[in-house]
Amino acid sequence: MSSEFPEYNPQLLELIKLFMVHNPCGDQNPNAPCMVNGACYKSFPKPFREETAISDDAYACTRRHNTGHTYTVNEKQVDNQWVVCYCPYLTWKYRCHINVESIVSVEAVKYIYKYVYKGHDRATMQFGRCIDEVKRETRPEGPPSCRNFPRPSNRSPHLRRLLTIF
Ligand SMILES: [Zn+2]
Repeated sequence: MSSEFPEYNPQLLELIKLFMVHNPCGDQNPNAPCMVNGACYKSFPKPFREETAISDDAYACTRRHNTGHTYTVNEKQVDNQWVVCYCPYLTWKYRCHINVESIVSVEAVKYIYKYVYKGHDRATMQFGRCIDEVKRETRPEGPPSCRNFPRPSNRSPHLRRLLTIF
């Protein structure tokens, strides 16, 4: 895993610039969606580091050399402080944004268990008809029990049999 621009590999460098750079925020873009109370909630730009270290919460703080090199990404100047941690092989193979984290704690088991069993993202969709469920349920026609009870004039044969039983 790495959090630096791969200057040794021009093709991988282009992929990292395309997929693995945090959109500049802070002073360069104070209205970025990641800005909360004047600071990036993902802590970008990350500080330069000579060596990878383990934080108090057991996450790896990866090495970020201050090479003095900057790159233009989305019309902003960025350096290694803006690179999202990545795995060169995964980025090369799948050519998309894949954030890689290293956790060296038993807490990782809890995280993985929760992540695996949370289920995939879902949404309720209906094709062909659009019913406003909120409007349908909040009509001012009285309580649902009175509103939905069949009236004598529009009873179906099935309902007539049902009402006879009661
Ligand atoms: Zn940010």
